[in-house]
Amino acid sequence: AIDFKWIRENKEAVSANVKNRNSNANLDLVLELYDKLLNVQKQEVERLRAERNAIANKMKAKLEPSERQKLIEEGKYLKDGLVTLEEDLLKLTDELQQEAQCVPNMTHPDVPAGGEDCSIVRKTVGKPREFSFPVKDHVQLGKDLDLFDFDAAAEVSGSKFYYLKNEAVLLEMGLVNWAVSEVMKKGFIPLTTPEIVRSSVVEKCGFQPRGTNTQVYSIEGSNQCLIGTAEIPVGAIHMDSILPESSLPLKYVAFSHCFRTEAGAAGAATRGLYRVHQFSKVEMFVLCRPEESNSFHEELIQIEEDLYSSLGLHFKTLDMATEDLGAPAYRKYDVEAWMPGLGRYGEISSASNCTDYQSRRLGIRYRPESSGPPKKGKGNSGATQFVHTLNATACAVPRMIVCLLENYQQEDGSVIVPEVLRPFMGGIELINYK
Ligand code: AMP
Repeated sequence: AIDFKWIRENKEAVSANVKNRNSNANLDLVLELYDKLLNVQKQEVERLRAERNAIANKMKAKLEPSERQKLIEEGKYLKDGLVTLEEDLLKLTDELQQEAQCVPNMTHPDVPAGGEDCSIVRKTVGKPREFSFPVKDHVQLGKDLDLFDFDAAAEVSGSKFYYLKNEAVLLEMGLVNWAVSEVMKKGFIPLTTPEIVRSSVVEKCGFQPRGTNTQVYSIEGSNQCLIGTAEIPVGAIHMDSILPESSLPLKYVAFSHCFRTEAGAAGAATRGLYRVHQFSKVEMFVLCRPEESNSFHEELIQIEEDLYSSLGLHFKTLDMATEDLGAPAYRKYDVEAWMPGLGRYGEISSASNCTDYQSRRLGIRYRPESSGPPKKGKGNSGATQFVHTLNATACAVPRMIVCLLENYQQEDGSVIVPEVLRPFMGGIELINYK
């Protein structure tokens, strides 16, 4: 339920927003296709009505069996024409949806305009650790401590895959268990999710499974994709439904694997675990009333900041600039943590308020209690509104492992396990030479 009528009525603002976000959306084409669709729809209705009336009128008269037969055949002929029209309708709808995919959400007025460099630091926690010895990066640390196998993964799967070994396995599982447990304490419902979903669901969440530069792995010969984030199956869990207002907010914390083609990532930091095709992630997802989404956005970033502070990391939180928002987000906060081996800050998480961008496409509404008891018939949908959705990373495992190894390395080559993780890792305090 993309509101094309609203887009047309607010064309100037939508167009300025498309420009501001450096989006490749073709607004004129979207509106042109919308008009065409309306026309074909109108034609269909008119034709249906004409068919019904004409045949019904003729049938009223006293008819010879042969004349009656002729009328029946005429009706069939008209019906065939309608089938063609319906095919046109489907094609047009698909084309319109495809183009409309690119039209981004509107933008929070406080979001800084411009490219990534224009993003604003909202908060800085801690400072970079000073080392009295030469630091190693996570790839070297992993090699020395026998934590990864990139070579075997390259043979078995291809580049940007990895095996985790020894304490790195405990780290992954410990981080996941810790993050889920911490977020559950805030009243979030834990979930694990399907990791293969319908391509249509991926599209409705604002991701683009089609095209050459897609981040999404599609499964050949099917209409399904591997998920790039748990946001997709969690968002879709309430697809096509009307939630009672009393059920809101719905807060989920989901564990899943994530799969990304990383098309177009050439040249970006690619060593080791930093940018890989498959990784584990704990994701928070909220469905709420529209008037609450800005404050839930603040709550989500606060949870992230508390998690990373308790791991003792040094990080910054950024209000991301317009060109870095992607299509679904109305506003996005990223967290960048200091990675001493890399010698720079690296993104470890992201929290987005997607307002009604996903709920419109997924058909997730709620019925405000103030609107009175459900009415019957047509007025029914008038009383409902779209929920707002938000998503935020609690823990993306590979970059967290990069951060922890590089920040907690010691001169003798061992790595200290942060205290909060020890209960989730069988009590080990140190990752040491075997
Ligand atoms: P996103 O869903 O794109 O906002 O990503 C959420 C988090 O997942 C990022 O902040 C990273 O920590 C992590 N991440 C994203 N892409 C990758 C990747 N290709 N490899 C490893 N971690 C990733």
